[in-house]
Amino acid sequence: MDSSVPVAIVMIGPPGSGKGTQSSKLSAFLGIPKISTGDILRQVASGSSRNSEEIRAIMETGGLVPDSILADLVTSRLSEPDCKKGFILDGYPRNIDQAIFLESLLQVKNYKLLVVEIAVPEDVLLKRVTGRFSCRVCGAIYNKYFLRPRNEKICDQCGSADFAYRSDDNELVVRERLREYTLQTLPVLDYYKAKHLLVSVDGNRSLDEVYDELTCHLSKVL
Ligand code: AMP
Repeated sequence: MDSSVPVAIVMIGPPGSGKGTQSSKLSAFLGIPKISTGDILRQVASGSSRNSEEIRAIMETGGLVPDSILADLVTSRLSEPDCKKGFILDGYPRNIDQAIFLESLLQVKNYKLLVVEIAVPEDVLLKRVTGRFSCRVCGAIYNKYFLRPRNEKICDQCGSADFAYRSDDNELVVRERLREYTLQTLPVLDYYKAKHLLVSVDGNRSLDEVYDELTCHLSKVL
């Protein structure tokens, strides 16, 4: 990787595509932060700031939080010192206006932009997302269709029996999130494709296989 040019890697994928997990692995490998707008918004929503209630209500239904709120949060996060060498954006941009806004931010800072799509068929996504649960104690992630704990109801990692489902993971909400993805985010992929910035990875494989393909693509361009 050419460390003299700061790099902005944008990870785009539908809910359940594994983009969060891949972003975390990549972040550790490249030594640049992963910035998840979903995580930032969940944090704001759980607090008591001016926007908390509004953000909470939108996230619970699977809709998109207004661009102006995202613009403030992203601008402020990208101006932190740990982003100087680069960063990985997980979950932003999610529509064309956000993509245009991001471009204006990056132009000022002179980052090299790379966009990665993680593509997964919709039926697989529904099972991945609706089946997902995690250990409240150590954070280990499971899935009732694909990855159950060895001993039903006991966490493999820490032995706890305290599991949590994400409150926006029920099927109706997931369908709404997928609808938003199709309507708002797929055009963003076309936008980046036309600019020759897009790399597409088949996400319907094991985490390691997806990660290998991802790093193989990135090593050619970084
Ligand atoms: P995620 O953790 O990326 O799946 O995001 C969870 C939820 O946060 C989404 O369903 C949206 O309600 C909200 N969200 C995250 N990123 C954005 C964004 N870039 N624009 C609008 N809403 C977002």
